[in-house]
Amino acid sequence: MSSERIHARYVSEHIGEQVTLKGWAQTIRDQGKIAFVVLRDVTDTVQLVITKNDDTDVLETVQNLSTESVIEVTGTAQSSDQAPGGREVKMDSLTVLSAAADLPIPVVEKEGETPHISKRLDYRWVDLRKEETRTIFEVWTEMERAFEEFCRREGFIDEKAYLSQSPQFYKQMAMAAGFENVFEVGAVFRAEKSFTPRHATEFTGFDVEMSFIEGLHDLISWEERMLVYVLEQIQETYGERIKELYGTEIVVPEIPFPRISMNEAKAILAERDIPSKSPVDVSPEEERALGEYAQEEYGHEFVFLTEYSTQVRPFYHMRSENNVTKSADLLYRGLEITTLAQREHRPEVLKQQAQEKGIDPQSVDYYIDFFRYGCPPHGGMGIGPSRIIKQMLGLESIREATYLFRGPKRMSP
Ligand code: ATP
Repeated sequence: MSSERIHARYVSEHIGEQVTLKGWAQTIRDQGKIAFVVLRDVTDTVQLVITKNDDTDVLETVQNLSTESVIEVTGTAQSSDQAPGGREVKMDSLTVLSAAADLPIPVVEKEGETPHISKRLDYRWVDLRKEETRTIFEVWTEMERAFEEFCRREGFIDEKAYLSQSPQFYKQMAMAAGFENVFEVGAVFRAEKSFTPRHATEFTGFDVEMSFIEGLHDLISWEERMLVYVLEQIQETYGERIKELYGTEIVVPEIPFPRISMNEAKAILAERDIPSKSPVDVSPEEERALGEYAQEEYGHEFVFLTEYSTQVRPFYHMRSENNVTKSADLLYRGLEITTLAQREHRPEVLKQQAQEKGIDPQSVDYYIDFFRYGCPPHGGMGIGPSRIIKQMLGLESIREATYLFRGPKRMSP
């Protein structure tokens, strides 16, 4: 006889009652006279128990059960001091809904036996069953919710994604349209080699564009406030679980975040004997060293790197004197997570800057057109949520923070 299905998390609310559970047989322990199954569903795990004296064929079914089979169980919820969480279900019936073949990768890993990430991605749907992996996406969902809520609360308009490699030009079009402030959560495509821990060929971007800014500092302070809000929300809901599963603390940052100009950064890096390939840009190693510097000097996990040279910035970034752009990168725990810039909105200047960069102004004329009929001064940023999650949880690569990672060598699953 089956009762209404409940989820594992709520078993303790039904002590003494008959309950039905559906989920995966995560572990099976058969001790002859007594057998245990740990059932996992989307909410939690719960121990199921059956003894030899019980007058059912359940014990036999358990003895033939394979790990990760999908099962439906009916039984009595009872308190138990020995069971994890202080409750278990004594089984009356067990039905196998889908038997699992031998697993290509484990769901419950033995210490130090985590398979290589490429093998894990080959079997992503099994890998995603692990609590740690699932937690990544719960935290992501919370981050996205908090980001959107913050934007909406401040009156930003949700821009729809268009078929484009990057929302950059079209979010600027919204400035010319008078939307004032827009945000977008959308897919971004890049022809990157993507063999690094921080690049994918397809990734989710958080994009923001704001009108009537007075300078880069408006963008910086907006992002500071946004990140404080997002991290507060994540800490509140997931702080404990993240600490338990990833051994890392969610720190809500203090405002203002430290800011370092490129020239200052180069001097700091030289003092620390960090090799530099370019005087106008920073390598991943230099980013890490600057993250350490910010931590030591300011006790801060974030640092804005400002005053990027025009050499390494696109033609549409607004310039100040000395070939410096009004742009910045934000590093989180030593990794770039955002590029921010005030945009050049004067058509003549844009045309000239395009030419200087060797771009045929004709080919970007459709874009320059956005600024010909009155467009407020504006700027914005592109944020990489997979990088934020990687840094927040201390993951090795954004591959783990991406539901389906896409790179030059990975088209499926
Ligand atoms: P990098 O210098 O690390 O390659 P980028 O300067 O090309 O990054 P932008 O073009 O400024 O990055 O994009 C804005 C943000 O989007 C970055 O700060 C990053 O968080 C994210 N991002 C950029 N490229 C990728 C990628 N290939 N995969 C995942 N996230 C990315």
